[in-house]
Amino acid sequence: MMTEDYIYLDYAASTPVDPRVFDRMRECSAATCANPSSTHAAGRMSQDIIANAATQVADLLNIDPKTLIWTSGATESDNLAIAGGARYRAHRGKHIVTMRTEHKAVTDMFDTLAKEGFEVTWVDPGPTGLLDPAAFEAALRDDTQFASIMFVNNETGVIQDIEALGNICRQRDILFHVDAAQAVGKVRIDLGKLPVDLLSLTGHKFYGPKGIGALYIADRPGCHVEPILFGGGQQRRMRPGTLPTELVAGLGMTAEIAAGRIDDDLAHLRTLRHALWDGIRHIDGVTLNGDPNGFPGILNVSVDDIEGESLLLALEPLLVATGSACNSKSQEPSYVLRALGLTDLQAQSAIRFSVGRPTTMPEVEFAAGHYRAAIEKLRELAPEVVT
Ligand SMILES: *Cc1c(COP(=O)(O)O)cnc(C)c1O
Repeated sequence: MMTEDYIYLDYAASTPVDPRVFDRMRECSAATCANPSSTHAAGRMSQDIIANAATQVADLLNIDPKTLIWTSGATESDNLAIAGGARYRAHRGKHIVTMRTEHKAVTDMFDTLAKEGFEVTWVDPGPTGLLDPAAFEAALRDDTQFASIMFVNNETGVIQDIEALGNICRQRDILFHVDAAQAVGKVRIDLGKLPVDLLSLTGHKFYGPKGIGALYIADRPGCHVEPILFGGGQQRRMRPGTLPTELVAGLGMTAEIAAGRIDDDLAHLRTLRHALWDGIRHIDGVTLNGDPNGFPGILNVSVDDIEGESLLLALEPLLVATGSACNSKSQEPSYVLRALGLTDLQAQSAIRFSVGRPTTMPEVEFAAGHYRAAIEKLRELAPEVVT
């Protein structure tokens, strides 16, 4: 997407809504205004729209539509899964496990539970951000009841071995939550095979609307969450509140579109990331943060002796992220990159390029050339800091 003056390379922060999704939402809005909780004919029409959307999302993940709870997005799904799951299991044990490289929606919830008397173990990834399943297993105890590990990292694109981690949890009957906000609709996920109990997703990370997401809750014994919202009896009381029919329909359409093109999307992103990295890897002092085999939509790079905020300014008209979008208001270096062992300076110079469906080869070629030029310019301006 090249808006008039900018080149958008921030698809990991949010994506444009597919026009077919808007069409579907407008269609639903025209068909019925009724509250889906109403039992009259118009309310039943809203219920049918929602049931249809549940089938579309369920087909993408190979699950039963009844295992989905609609939420306002991945932040709420993460909060509900973690607080609700850990509290549901608390009578059996209060030890819970996650990583420092998780999204704030996860780490802040764990910090909150720690204040409630849960004991948290933060497992460390290796230098590329990958969690060694053996290190994960070593952190587990007899009283461990809950673990949360993300699928695709939002800053580095690192993909965790969810199958291995989930199998370890299954063996010990630990409730296993996966934040898949960056993975759903972008990499193949078969929940018929993957040993995952709870999985969070959100529409706006895969060409759907903002403000709608879902939590998958596996239909198996001991897998349940306590509500964090209270009100009407909607969604089996697990998440009350009037369902936003149009947004739910939009998320359903988003999932159906994604299901048909994941492999083509991945091939497109791989070509783009390869070209982008090829255009900048020879710059003096440039390093790739994360795993080269990670999700191809994200390329996170640091460069020696350059300050991140000045780099971001020099990079205009490229719209990219320093740290993560959620943290960029604070000047703190990314806690995710710090957890990979980067120094404050290295983390501060990090730029996250993220490409998407609309990104073109000329855009990434321009981006690579512009990044090279920006670094040369900054080094000329401040030659004394160049070692
Ligand atoms: C974007 C994101 C979230 C938050 O999702 P929202 O729908 O914006 O609340 C959570 N986790 C990850 C990994 C994300 O990328």
